[in-house]
Amino acid sequence: MSALEENIARAKTYISRFAEDGVMNHIGGENVAAVSGETFEIISPVDLSKLADVAKSDAADIDRAAQAAKEAFKTWSKTPGAERRKILIKVAEAIEARAEEIAFVECMDTGQALRFMSKAALRGAANFRYFADQAPASEDGAVTRTPTQMNTTTRRPIGPVGVITPWNTPFMLSTWKIAPALAAGCTVVQKPAEFSPMTAKLLVEIAESAGLPKGVLNVVNGLGETAGKSLTEHKDIKAIAFVGESQTGSHIMRQGAATLKRVHFELGGKNPVIVFDDADIDRAVDAATFMIYSLNGERCTSSSRLLVQDTIYDDFTDRVAKVAKSIKVGHPLDPETVVGPLIHPVHEEKVLSYFETAEKEGATIAAGGEKIGKDGCYIGPTLFTNANNDMAIAQEEIFGPVLTAIPFKDEADALRIANDVEYGLAAYLWTNDLNRAMRMTDELEAGMMWVNSENIRHLPTPFGGVKSSGIGRDGGDWSFDFYMETVNVSFPRAEHKIPKLGS
Ligand code: NAD
Repeated sequence: MSALEENIARAKTYISRFAEDGVMNHIGGENVAAVSGETFEIISPVDLSKLADVAKSDAADIDRAAQAAKEAFKTWSKTPGAERRKILIKVAEAIEARAEEIAFVECMDTGQALRFMSKAALRGAANFRYFADQAPASEDGAVTRTPTQMNTTTRRPIGPVGVITPWNTPFMLSTWKIAPALAAGCTVVQKPAEFSPMTAKLLVEIAESAGLPKGVLNVVNGLGETAGKSLTEHKDIKAIAFVGESQTGSHIMRQGAATLKRVHFELGGKNPVIVFDDADIDRAVDAATFMIYSLNGERCTSSSRLLVQDTIYDDFTDRVAKVAKSIKVGHPLDPETVVGPLIHPVHEEKVLSYFETAEKEGATIAAGGEKIGKDGCYIGPTLFTNANNDMAIAQEEIFGPVLTAIPFKDEADALRIANDVEYGLAAYLWTNDLNRAMRMTDELEAGMMWVNSENIRHLPTPFGGVKSSGIGRDGGDWSFDFYMETVNVSFPRAEHKIPKLGS
């Protein structure tokens, strides 16, 4: 048996339960069908075969989950931070114990390659550990004094919150949003993406098996326009943490307006990797190709625009094309695979449509640019050269393994091109000139920048974007600021004269 055949056999043991039982909702500790009894089907991106039936929820299910979260909030919000920490550390341990199952289910549900997904559970566990450690001090604040007043500023959990997650790397992203919410003392209703809902189900089961009280984390499946919308409109849900497309963020803002919902948005990106001719070219080639072709390019921080100084443009793009052509595209469970199938035929169609547009606009396909095989959503790692920043492939988020290479002359030109998009999530800069790096990072419009590096996440640092890429920051204390209310109480230090307005 080959490694792939062995992995497929193992994956079957993990996903067969979903085929049998479906992916139902998880509310108040119970596995429940949608109130309407309706379901929708999810398919495997590997071969388009049916994976499972999923609960198709609506406002009634959201209300049920919101009530469960509201009830559980009474106890969870008053559970001491040190106690919450203990439980969340146990959740982290339980995630680690089921890391293989999480990885295999995620691969089959999303099409992401095992070489990357095998780390997803560990990253998820790390999220739980990091935020668990912040729980005991999460309510602490400051004391400020004047001659007449002593002010105590503290934080308290905002209430039950909604977490709406996208289909790319759903396990890791869910833990990133849910762990700080729970650490802060909030309870959660999660609405996972309709294309890849399986690992959200695993997470809530794992969390409860590790001791998370019932009702603290609830999962309601369904479509964005119904279940997601209802969650954003529910009066008992105090805040919405959303990861997804910028346009959906606008919808959510409108939907949440009537209940004055607090929102936190992590949205799309069209992130530049900027390579100057003084850079370490070998490392820059590795980083640029890693940041666009890993995770199928279905990654918000992918470096989808390659800006290269004109003096090295031809050589650099030749090298990137060579790497792209050598990348193994295949079954996500094959240990050799780098690029697996895209999430769904609908998304594949969107990515393929850019190939036509690019050709019409005059770009050159230097690698890939086509579908591979008939079954499954496989497309080749693609590089477009001869491109300019006005093209759709340079402006729009394609969310696939598709890179657009644009030449620039000097710093001013690089900055102009880099900032000339509606997004501002991440930027990657390659230069060995420290002063240039300082000048460039001062002016680049991005929430996160890496100099001479691929994206490396450090949890205490802020994660988020500017412009259409988001509102708010995750990580460190920023996550707690979002999930908590800051409250000030003023005590008198000495009697003072109170203005008298009448006799
Ligand atoms: P999407 O916006 O289509 O869907 C995301 C989630 O929102 C899904 O659960 C969906 O059901 C729900 N939704 C859709 N319409 C809704 C509505 N009207 N009200 C409430 N919920 C609704 O995004 P996607 O296609 O699943 O994910 C890909 C996008 O996510 C890309 O744009 C990517 O850049 C972005 N993303 C951003 C980050 C980040 O950190 N900035 C991370 C990962 C993904």
